[in-house]
Amino acid sequence: TNSNATQRAWVEIDHQALINNVVALKKILAPHTKLMTVIKADAYGHGAVSVAKTVLGCGADYLAIATLSEGIELRKAQIKAPIMILGAINSAEEIEEVVKWQLEPTICTLSQGQVFAEVLARLGVSLSVHLKIDTGMSRLGTLWHKTVTFVKGIQNIAHLEIKSLYSHLATADDPDSRVMNLQHQRFRDAIEELKAHQIDIQALHLANSAGTMVGQDLHYDMVRVGLALYGLYPSVHLQNRVQLQPVMEVKARITQIKNVPADTGVSYGHSFKCDRPSTIAVIGIGYADGVPRLLSNKMKVIIRGKYVQQIGNITMDQIMLDITDFPDLKVGEIVTVLGQDGDLTITADDWARAIGTISWEILCGFKHRLPRINN
Ligand code: PLP
Repeated sequence: TNSNATQRAWVEIDHQALINNVVALKKILAPHTKLMTVIKADAYGHGAVSVAKTVLGCGADYLAIATLSEGIELRKAQIKAPIMILGAINSAEEIEEVVKWQLEPTICTLSQGQVFAEVLARLGVSLSVHLKIDTGMSRLGTLWHKTVTFVKGIQNIAHLEIKSLYSHLATADDPDSRVMNLQHQRFRDAIEELKAHQIDIQALHLANSAGTMVGQDLHYDMVRVGLALYGLYPSVHLQNRVQLQPVMEVKARITQIKNVPADTGVSYGHSFKCDRPSTIAVIGIGYADGVPRLLSNKMKVIIRGKYVQQIGNITMDQIMLDITDFPDLKVGEIVTVLGQDGDLTITADDWARAIGTISWEILCGFKHRLPRINN
């Protein structure tokens, strides 16, 4: 449904690419490993509800989100699949909502478990939960060497059903695998200790996208894949592990064209000066839409299969291009800001590299303002 004729800019989501990525990822999973698709932050800017529907329709087993409201959005859209909350849920009010919407929270500490115990006892209901241990990320979770005490304590709380135990890798995208190996060893140690205490856990999981690509010994019962789902690689050295296609494209239209003499300054601060009589095109997209302002004078767009240089500081809603060498362009012309046109592509990785960030952040930047077209 391409009803974008009146739009100054928009995001296109290629659901066939999403399906292809899910299928490709499932092919590299260890036998019996389930696929949890991470669709927090509005599916990394791709639209959580529509992404959820597509991935569940082609083999995803589980959904993961970060916050309570992200989970509620999916349930309100009639999505029935199991949904794990990756972030910490601490207050009684939040726990009541988790129960009401049948979400599956992560419990990171015993004391957090006790808050759950009180609320669930009061409500007289039980709840499926996931336990998190910290093997070296130093973010959420109980330290790995306290796993048995933590798990036993949670097991002793009525109303809590432990569906899985998991940890998160801090450096799986790094070609130097030492930290990852240490985390994996700690995860294995924790599992061995649980076994030694005759504690049986339904499911174990450790790998993010990078871990999933590194190899099957990290896959366990489930992998939690975010970035790769959207067709990007966590690292260049993992690019040969699976064939992925970018799912998001960003397009904008030329909204005005003007001719200016040499020495004309462009945009706020005049960070660009035309060194020749020039033709400038304005396109209707800016940093409030998700194009990082740090890309000013560093980015290109693609028009009619050719790169066109962006000039001057990126503004909140608009960007200027130097189209002096493209005299045929007209107002209304569609510009590929991110994506493929002809033989050329611009990826979130290109942008991330240019400004010293990561592709995850680039994608999430498009979750707020632009209309989304699902193809
Ligand atoms: N697991 C956890 C706990 C996460 O926080 C995330 C996202 O940051 C993921 C998995 C997915 O990571 P990625 O997007 O690198 O696959």
